[in-house]
Amino acid sequence: MSDNKSIAGIVELDQRHVWHPFVQEQTAPPPLPVARAAGASLFLEDGREILDLASSWWVNVHGHCHPAIAQALGDQARTLEHVIFAGFTHAPAARLAEQLVNFLPAPLSRVFYSDNGSTAVEAALKMAFQSWRNQGERRRTLFLAFEGAYHGDTFGAMSVGRSSNFYAPFEDVLLKVRFTPFAETWLNADGDVDAGVETREAAALAELDAILERDGKRVAGFIAEPLVQGASGMRMCRPEFLRSVCERVAAQGIPVILDEVMTGFGRTGTLFAMEQAGVTPDLVCLSKGLTGGFLPLAATVASTKVYESFLGSDFGTAFAHGHSYTANPLGCAAALASLSLFTTEGTLERIGAIREANLRWLKAAARLPGICRPRALGSIVAVNLGLEADYHSSLGPKLKARFLELGLLVRPLGNVVYLMPPACITPEDLARAHQTVLQVLRESAPLYAPR
Ligand SMILES: *Cc1c(COP(=O)(O)O)cnc(C)c1O
Repeated sequence: MSDNKSIAGIVELDQRHVWHPFVQEQTAPPPLPVARAAGASLFLEDGREILDLASSWWVNVHGHCHPAIAQALGDQARTLEHVIFAGFTHAPAARLAEQLVNFLPAPLSRVFYSDNGSTAVEAALKMAFQSWRNQGERRRTLFLAFEGAYHGDTFGAMSVGRSSNFYAPFEDVLLKVRFTPFAETWLNADGDVDAGVETREAAALAELDAILERDGKRVAGFIAEPLVQGASGMRMCRPEFLRSVCERVAAQGIPVILDEVMTGFGRTGTLFAMEQAGVTPDLVCLSKGLTGGFLPLAATVASTKVYESFLGSDFGTAFAHGHSYTANPLGCAAALASLSLFTTEGTLERIGAIREANLRWLKAAARLPGICRPRALGSIVAVNLGLEADYHSSLGPKLKARFLELGLLVRPLGNVVYLMPPACITPEDLARAHQTVLQVLRESAPLYAPR
């Protein structure tokens, strides 16, 4: 722990020189300096402990500073820290590619490395697009995505997530995209699937059919967050719905891209969400949990068919895309260590236990006035404060500040309160978190459930 003077110094330096993401810098409260972290806890410079129920922006899987990953990183750093990945390879990249391919359904067979979720999405969009060009098809210049999608903040990724309203200033320069409805589902008072879901799904599929009828032949690729739309408010759909959508899209010959950046690596209870829907995409995007939350690394995994459409005798059909830190050995070593923890620590079983506890808690939470659309999947549990998810609700910052006072990192998406702890959280810590969140929902009810 640092003394008070140096803590103030950190914040002062930060305030003078750092530009933070996703905040209005003029009005945002000063950032909290974190000294260290372990398991599910962050320890602030002033000694306070904060329970990390956001898995540090959805990246952390097994807990902070997990010794097995730290060890693997240290060993790798003393062996090979980085090397150009054009014309060279190394054991961590080759082994990790083999493992990812083994975990994913055939025919996903080719791993293209990059650095973060947005670049994994950019690569997938460019692959889908260029694959058509390489086959002599030039009319397919549109993409298809779900309403409310979020796929990252670079231009291509913004384009396919435009309907989430983050990107108003860029509207004029984004790619052409058709958006199809996402049929949300949630639990009723008995903990069963809500009664209206089939009607919503049928309406959404009818709208998709109309889009495909009109523009299907012009679509280069369809991209979706499988089962859970993260940033637009942990909106969940039924596996059957995702499957029906993907089947209709695939029937038009349109490549399916599943963005598992948030859902991958156990978050939804299976290693990948696509397993529950029984969907095999042409391309899949992986990042956040790939290294267990230690380092930025991403992979776009392509089917054999997509890969082969880039083969030829000249450079013209090659995928001319790459990043300086592509397949960084430290990232790959962390990813290998993280993947083996799934076996040695029974990570998916732990996530199953978190889900059981979350479902019990949801029953209590759903009885509070104004709490709507309770839902849970894997280690994710969410409720809306008021009916519809609204990212721009002013409730978010107020609740976040109150949660922090009470020792929890809970970062509502507007009026959506969700928990997404790392798999290592103890039952005691989870129970404490559940209690505290109920308390905050109760005390803030006047803000969203008037009367
Ligand atoms: C976070 C996220 C991204 C973007 O990942 P970054 O690493 O932040 O660029 C893309 N897709 C989904 C579904 C995400 O949740």
